[in-house]
Amino acid sequence: MKDTSKHQGLRNQLASVLQQKGITDENVLNAVRKIPRHLFIDSSFEDHAYQDKAFPIAAEQTISQPYTVAFQSQSLKVKSGDKILEIGTGSGYQTAVLLELNAEVYTIERQHELFKKTSLFLPKLGYKAKKFIFGDGYQGLKEKAPFDKIIVTAGAPFVPKPLLSQLKVGGMLLIPVGEKTQIMTLFIRKSPKEFEKHELGDFAFVPMLEKKA
Ligand code: SAH
Repeated sequence: MKDTSKHQGLRNQLASVLQQKGITDENVLNAVRKIPRHLFIDSSFEDHAYQDKAFPIAAEQTISQPYTVAFQSQSLKVKSGDKILEIGTGSGYQTAVLLELNAEVYTIERQHELFKKTSLFLPKLGYKAKKFIFGDGYQGLKEKAPFDKIIVTAGAPFVPKPLLSQLKVGGMLLIPVGEKTQIMTLFIRKSPKEFEKHELGDFAFVPMLEKKA
């Protein structure tokens, strides 16, 4: 696992690209400058790691586009110590960004291959999630609820009720909703029964699947 000054240069460039596209949160930009994204993809494709695009990983899944990761991270307004549930661990890159923002992260992946790979890989880089869970994100994680923030990194055909109910009052659910393309949707829990909904633009994700693989 090699990280060189060339990689650092490419990361600084990627952060500038994200800034030009409207990412302003310095903590998020610093996380992009710091995390060796090339180690999250197959080493023979390392040239692609610092371009602003999604890329295939194992089990027909993708590592999300850096802009999307930065946009989701910025939209969540992560504060140090926030308790966050992530649905769709995938490569673990988004998880690493949340950990760089000093969040306490619980992350769920439904593909066993990815779950195994990433739960071994992230700690090697020094990234320690509170918990890696192999399971179905549609159910959330009731035993650890409530959460300050919940982030979904796969396209959801509908908004799963358990995720809304596992938010603290004042908490946020950020979820891309839609079948072919998705609208990034932010729910803020105003009271036990009231949610405020904001639509933040169009994105494209791999689908959030309903049954365990
Ligand atoms: N944050 C990841 C995104 C990976 S793509 C990254 O940047 O690498 C979305 C991930 O969601 C995939 O790994 C996919 O297997 C996972 N996923 C799909 N449906 C799911 C479900 N119901 N529960 C948990 N994870 C799911």
